[in-house]
Amino acid sequence: MPPDTFDLSTPALGCVFQAGPRLALTAFGLPGLPWALPSSPLFAIEADGARIDAHTPGLAVERADLREGEPGRRELTVALRHAETGLAIEFHVAQYAETALVETWLAVRNDGAAPRRITRLDSLALDLPPGAYERLSFTGSWGLEFEPQRVPLAEPAVLESRAGRSSLGHLPWFALARDGESLFAGAVAWSGNWAVRLEPRASGVALSGGLHDWAFVAELAPGAEIVAPPFVAALAPGQGLDAVATQFARVGRRHWYPHNPLADRLPVEWNHWWSYEDKDLDEAVFRRNVDAAAELGVEVCTLDAGWFGPSDPATHWYEQRGDWDMVNTERFPSGLRALSDYVHARGMAFGLWCEIEAIGKGARLAAERPELVATREGEPLGYVCLGSPAGRAWALATLDRIIGAYRCDWVKLDFNLDPGAGCDRADHGHGPGDGLYAHYRGYYALLAAVRERHPHVVLENCSSGGLRIDLGIARQTHMAFLSDPDWPEHSLQCFWGASLMLAPDALLHWGYCEWRHAEHRCQTFDPRDPALQPHQIDYYTRISMLRRFGFSQRLPNLPAWVAARYRQHIDDYKAHVRRFVREADLLRLSGQPRRFGEGERWAAFQYAMPIGDEHLLAVFRLPGGAPDHTVAPTALDPARSYTLTWLGEGRVERHLGADLLAGGLPFSLPEEGSALVLLRAGQGQRD
Ligand SMILES: [Zn+2]
Repeated sequence: MPPDTFDLSTPALGCVFQAGPRLALTAFGLPGLPWALPSSPLFAIEADGARIDAHTPGLAVERADLREGEPGRRELTVALRHAETGLAIEFHVAQYAETALVETWLAVRNDGAAPRRITRLDSLALDLPPGAYERLSFTGSWGLEFEPQRVPLAEPAVLESRAGRSSLGHLPWFALARDGESLFAGAVAWSGNWAVRLEPRASGVALSGGLHDWAFVAELAPGAEIVAPPFVAALAPGQGLDAVATQFARVGRRHWYPHNPLADRLPVEWNHWWSYEDKDLDEAVFRRNVDAAAELGVEVCTLDAGWFGPSDPATHWYEQRGDWDMVNTERFPSGLRALSDYVHARGMAFGLWCEIEAIGKGARLAAERPELVATREGEPLGYVCLGSPAGRAWALATLDRIIGAYRCDWVKLDFNLDPGAGCDRADHGHGPGDGLYAHYRGYYALLAAVRERHPHVVLENCSSGGLRIDLGIARQTHMAFLSDPDWPEHSLQCFWGASLMLAPDALLHWGYCEWRHAEHRCQTFDPRDPALQPHQIDYYTRISMLRRFGFSQRLPNLPAWVAARYRQHIDDYKAHVRRFVREADLLRLSGQPRRFGEGERWAAFQYAMPIGDEHLLAVFRLPGGAPDHTVAPTALDPARSYTLTWLGEGRVERHLGADLLAGGLPFSLPEEGSALVLLRAGQGQRD
């Protein structure tokens, strides 16, 4: 092999680069199934209006090396120089052991004497081979997250967000199936505007993407550098999406997601928001709920919006965002530390909501610190520009103080606005065309600094429900909150989609919440409804137990039988379920349920432990589903005998793996019925 050949192949992946005299991709694909042509441009940069990619004449390889830093991760760095512009380009490829997953990104430095205008940074550009392609992707908007699109790839398509947050528009994930025999799943690890372009041609499909080029200009001064976000790509044979999803999940858990002891426990949460919002909450109400939460076995109590701003019971949280130095002492006369102490004294962790980026119209912050405000064409955008050093310093000092003064164990970080193309101010240290890019670099740096200073604190990425779910923010926060609404079918639809990109332990969604204002036609749950049946409580709660889990309900004075059932589910979650959520591979045993009565009417998931032959089946009959349904578990050893234990039902059966694989497991459930079944393999065929 020539010395400038770099082989990143694994048993599951063929991946070979040539780094001399030119950079080229020699192979990329599954064994026997190529997924890129040697003509692939690999990346694309637009500098002063001219395109630079791996084929551009005058682009010379200066250096290339392949290193193993952290165990299980290899990184190829190819340093290139473009003589004409003086741009130094680093093309990075990271590959993860035992997977067919790679990520690629670019760093571009201006080593020339003149400024360069960068208007496009595609972290990956591949020519895919000819074939019959089908695309699966999701659109997302508030309350409508993870709407599937499954279409033949016949026309050029652009998947993108221009809202300034990654999951409004499309979700930054997609999959391509080719000829029904193998899959390519891609994701842009970025929380701002991103794009993936898919252009069918006679010779195959041109794929490119990364940071969005829309409304993006980076004026690169001599000596300055810009780093483009990673493009993640995973391959798998067959048509099953789980084969790519488990790669994303395993690499995420081991290499991407932050960890700390509280986050890793997957604590059960109570949050005040939906049942009380800001209007119906005060100190006494919060304390009564904390007492009830402790009785149920809850482990984190979170004070959501409504705690900050002027001491006036009539204020609305949205208008006051930014005035984090003020506590509404009309609602909380003892202050927040007293509430935090109250939670801690009952053996639970204390969580606090904060929208650190946002500036409400009623907040003093904009007037007192005008230099922090993000603006575009002179108009305020409603957030603190973290592309400015002053903005970053203010945000870090603010979070530092809040976490310290109130002894927070958990911060729920929200973001209820669309920055669009972002800040174009001239006095923030960023350019007029890369303010949004700079904001997200600043936000990631802020979150990293908070984690460094407060390593025990859990960071939840909320973002107006699930409108900033991506693999960039997932490297800085411990979980993504999936969506504001959480009626059962909506919840299943979101989970089915989000878990294609993120492991279940990187996701949080509550059980069917009790909304103070049932302004959404499907969000009508009342735990005090006399018609409510035990199997419905089980169904609502078990759906949320599929990932990180919690409640937003009025806990005091729940009917005794409802509280007892919650207590049992929380016990089951702690004793049995969350170990699977944290460690197991998630396998979809049904298609995606849909929120408004379409899609699958029986939903089933299997959590398969990577070692030990233990499994958890979660089965749900949705409204409209037939009374009987056979679930087909997978990944079992046909030769072994399995003990099946129905959680909460005391039912135990023994089945041979071969029988379960061949005949499945029949379920008869009422509408809104559910089952959680543990499967444990015995030592031999008949034990
Ligand atoms: Zn700015």
